[in-house]
Amino acid sequence: MEKVRIGISGYGNLGRGVELAIRQNDDMELAGIFTRRDPSTVKPLTAGAKVYSIADAEKMANDIDVMIICGGSATDLPKQTPEMAKLFNVIDSFDTHKRIPEHFANVDKAAKESGHLAFISLGWDPGLFSLNRLYAESILPNGKSYTFWGKGVSQGHSDAIRRVEGVKRGIQYTVPIESAMEAVRSGSQPELTTRQKHLRECWVVPEEGADLAKIENDIKTMKNYFDEYDTTVNFITEEEFDAKHNKMPHGGFVMRSGLTGDGEKTHQMIEYSLKLESNPEFTASVLICFARALARMKAEGATGCKTAFDVPPAYLSKLSGEELRASML
Ligand code: NAP
Repeated sequence: MEKVRIGISGYGNLGRGVELAIRQNDDMELAGIFTRRDPSTVKPLTAGAKVYSIADAEKMANDIDVMIICGGSATDLPKQTPEMAKLFNVIDSFDTHKRIPEHFANVDKAAKESGHLAFISLGWDPGLFSLNRLYAESILPNGKSYTFWGKGVSQGHSDAIRRVEGVKRGIQYTVPIESAMEAVRSGSQPELTTRQKHLRECWVVPEEGADLAKIENDIKTMKNYFDEYDTTVNFITEEEFDAKHNKMPHGGFVMRSGLTGDGEKTHQMIEYSLKLESNPEFTASVLICFARALARMKAEGATGCKTAFDVPPAYLSKLSGEELRASML
């Protein structure tokens, strides 16, 4: 069996997750880690793994089957994925939903011109949640869809509270409101406002002598981040912060409540949920199984940009079509 040679571009939480996910798939191997930092300062988890400067990536165009790009969505991926698609087949987890059409167009152009295949916006949302929304809405055209996130750490909101004056350390959890999910499950197809769907829970270590009431007010009234939500702010010590808030859990629910039948009175409910102890490790596991599909589609001649919607499910599995039909259908 020829292994799929994986490159990792960008070595943060997701990059480390990809490195670990390769270990669980014996048809994959790590070909190298690429970073913008001085490679000697980046220490991989795997003994013997090679770390290169990203500037040297082009020298390895023939040594890598799929480059998994693990930069941040805000500023890294819009540049890195189209650039890398000129040299490699690529996968990213770009998650700025509103900008996906624009990112798709840029990556598609670069990949088509160079004859490579690119998968963008994979992971769980976008990614697995997108697929579940597509299946649910296609199956139940008369219905209403809902996505709830959490309980989990939002990086963007955690960064935002760390910028508040007087905050030494901070983390924010997005929490879905159980009564709202129950209302959806009941089939009543409620109209839910932003405030009715999620709570925002903040844990803050204040600077010594900081004005706690001001910190709380600054967080709760922050535009675009907290002002549209019910937010709680909890002050804790640094020891408690380190002991209880050192993981990156996440997850959520995709739901569709639909009606079928004569007179459309039969309630049908679809619900898909994830409960993740580590968001980056799980996201990386998704990227790795899509790398297998990418290698297969590339071997069949596909080029350009694709998303989760374009990948045949059977291509994700190590099992043959015959084995899948016998064991999972
Ligand atoms: P991260 O840890 O902040 O890493 C982002 C980049 O920052 C890395 O590629 C790395 O690039 C650089 N970096 C990491 N550690 C560094 C350090 N100590 N000093 C300086 N630079 C460092 O971000 P992440 O948690 O891996 O997440 C990456 C992206 O994944 C997120 O932006 C998010 O959009 C996406 N994501 C998507 C999904 C989904 O479901 N689709 C789920 C989770 C995350 P260099 O090695 O080149 O310096």
